[in-house]
Amino acid sequence: MNHPVAAVDLRKSYNGRLVLAADEFRLAAGQVTALVGPSGAGKTTLLRLAAGLETPDSGELYWFGRPSNAADLAARRRLGFVFQMPRLFSGTVYENLAYGLRLRGLGEGEIRERVERLLQQVGLSEFSAQVARSLSGGEQQRVALARTLITGPEVIFLDEPTANLDPPNVKAIEELVTGYCREQGAAVAWVTHNIFQARRCSQQLVFLAEGRVVEAGPTHRLVQEAAEARTRAFLSGEMIY
Ligand code: ADP
Repeated sequence: MNHPVAAVDLRKSYNGRLVLAADEFRLAAGQVTALVGPSGAGKTTLLRLAAGLETPDSGELYWFGRPSNAADLAARRRLGFVFQMPRLFSGTVYENLAYGLRLRGLGEGEIRERVERLLQQVGLSEFSAQVARSLSGGEQQRVALARTLITGPEVIFLDEPTANLDPPNVKAIEELVTGYCREQGAAVAWVTHNIFQARRCSQQLVFLAEGRVVEAGPTHRLVQEAAEARTRAFLSGEMIY
């Protein structure tokens, strides 16, 4: 299987406390990998390490089969991110989407075409000229996702992107991410505390607890017959988190 992101023995401590020790972590092309587990389990830490947003204390990380390097702009441009808070730039929705394409040297005609196409996909065409930060939270998050997708990332890192959203916007984000993953063959890493979302959207599941990967594998298999009692307790809703 093609693994655009792979890591071995990633370790991270904060203030002398080990918060993550992940023996193995991989993302498969064309699949959503959900990172689930109780609060404080290390999900965000693992995601940020794999994305190169934090540096591990030790371990090996590979992007596209080569050792990761934060200075490797060409590799970093193949990665995309969406966080819990949209973090849009000041300026219009159009400008937010055009920005990444300008950085990549595209001409204004092509930029306009791509922005319009993507705004249509996310259902926000009418907001193109509006100041992005004046939109509702759900709309802003759709803009943030569109801004990421428009650059055509091969790997997308999502950290609780729907945590603050109402059901229609949750549904929109889920459909956009899973559709993009399927159609473009992208690898998606998705941190979620919502096991139902993980079941709806992911093909692979990584269950973390207390800074360790307890169990990882295909979502349908883990949901039906997880090997570890803690995984079963979490996936069945018995474990309070
Ligand atoms: P999760 O995403 O599963 O809720 P996190 O990865 O956010 O867990 O956090 C794992 C542990 O690491 C928590 O105990 C958290 O308090 C700690 N932690 C995370 N980031 C930092 C940081 N920048 N400084 C200190 N502690 C941190």
